[in-house]
Amino acid sequence: MKIHLKDIGEGKDLRFHLDREQVDELFAVTGGELTGTDAGLSLNGRVQLLDDTVIVSGALSAEIGFVCVRCAELRSRRVELPLDAVLMPRSSTDELDSDLELTAEDMDVSFYDGEEIELDPLVREIIFLEFPAFPACEAGSEECEQALEAIKAALDTGEDEVVDGPDPRWAALGAIREKLRNGSS
Ligand SMILES: [Zn+2]
Repeated sequence: MKIHLKDIGEGKDLRFHLDREQVDELFAVTGGELTGTDAGLSLNGRVQLLDDTVIVSGALSAEIGFVCVRCAELRSRRVELPLDAVLMPRSSTDELDSDLELTAEDMDVSFYDGEEIELDPLVREIIFLEFPAFPACEAGSEECEQALEAIKAALDTGEDEVVDGPDPRWAALGAIREKLRNGSS
């Protein structure tokens, strides 16, 4: 998601959409913990130029895939986030004295090189910060509980291959049979 300085002029609408593969690519540098989904990612907003300071104001809307740390299933979460950024040319930091540089840090100013603004790192950071280090399904999620139960059940049957006595399911069938027999007599 790039903007050329010369295209901004009096201000320019931002309209980007990334599909699943492009979102995958966006997060590849973070080890692929977050992934794209069919819904993709949209960025809409406006970019303006004040001297050589670029001001971006917009909104991100995306559905992001992640693996739940509890149930280990691939889940997704919808995120709606504001994207507001102030970017200054990196060369301008040479002219700033240290006090001003601190102010720039407080204001959460980013820097750009050359004639092109690359929005990918900003978008990546904003979404990445929205997710905890160990993302999980929402607390009390039924899907998560069920998946967890299924894992436990699979582990249990793996451990106890020899079952003592008749399978409880057969016992239940036997009870039904008994009932039917008593009823018909
Ligand atoms: Zn889960």
